[in-house]
Amino acid sequence: MSHVLEVEDLTVEFRLPEGILRAPDGISFSVGEREVLGIVGESGSGKSVTALSLMGLIPSPPGKVKAAKMEFMGKNLLKEVEEIRGKKISMVFQNPLNSLNPSMKIGAQLIEVLVNHMNMTKPEAKEKSIEIMKNLGIPSPENLMNRYPFEYSGGMRQRIMIAMAMLCNPKLLIADEPTTALDVTIQSQILYMFRELKEEFETSLIFITHDLGVIAQIADRVMVMYAGKQVENASVEDIFKNPKHPYTLGLLDSLPKLIPEKRKQRLLSIQGNVPGLLKPPKGCRFHPRCSKAMKICTEKEPPAFSVGSSTVWCWLYGREVANNEAAGN
Ligand code: SF4
Ligand code: MG
Repeated sequence: MSHVLEVEDLTVEFRLPEGILRAPDGISFSVGEREVLGIVGESGSGKSVTALSLMGLIPSPPGKVKAAKMEFMGKNLLKEVEEIRGKKISMVFQNPLNSLNPSMKIGAQLIEVLVNHMNMTKPEAKEKSIEIMKNLGIPSPENLMNRYPFEYSGGMRQRIMIAMAMLCNPKLLIADEPTTALDVTIQSQILYMFRELKEEFETSLIFITHDLGVIAQIADRVMVMYAGKQVENASVEDIFKNPKHPYTLGLLDSLPKLIPEKRKQRLLSIQGNVPGLLKPPKGCRFHPRCSKAMKICTEKEPPAFSVGSSTVWCWLYGREVANNEAAGN
């Protein structure tokens, strides 16, 4: 599969009066054409900052984005993001009310995007907006154009935001907790809409959520993040059928319905809290909460280990390396 996005060793650093905070801290991932990469982790794990860094939206100072590679369709995002943002890469956020202008009719907001980014005339932009909403299954888009955001429910506003994000036919859509504020029925409608648009517009998707249940419904591949680090990258099948990292297992534990009976005994519930990122634990950042922690986990950060088609950052999968490290080799 050819990649639309390749990221290697991405770190976002914030220099704060209290110290330096890094999240994400050295993560690598890629997104294939029409692929959905789910990024999952508790809040504070660095998911949103990862998304904002791809969009070139990290305020500097205090933020600084560093990466060995951050390439989108052959372009260096660290240098050329301004030309790409809102056109080839767009983003949908959790709360559509913060992104829609409450005092402007929905139609005018959609038209403005196309006039500014795609050099369309107003009539062309209007036609295109209606067409996209129709493609996304939004009912009576002609009517909707003359209304204000407050006249619609949260679910409908989120659909409008998705339509807005799709106006310029992006190659990559980044959605940050887009269904978190919605009730479950509306949530599944919106997830369905995301799945459809992937086919309809041939768009790749990065879908950020704290909810593995949502991941199960939308993702092809998954990156699990914990305290600024990635801990496991795997296909969605492997995440659910053959999870490897103790943190992934712990997250799955909160989804009892999705877990086969036989694995229940093995599961570890996650005690404690996500650590502060100004002074993260030494070694593996998960060690204070991990029931499998070994001595090396408290001393050395685990490197990436390949296990089947998954990549896991955990010493359990590199015992030989761990033993050599312990012996000082
Ligand atoms: Fe647990 Fe050690 Fe693996 Fe970290 S490296 S998840 S502490 S076993
Ligand atoms: Mg977030």
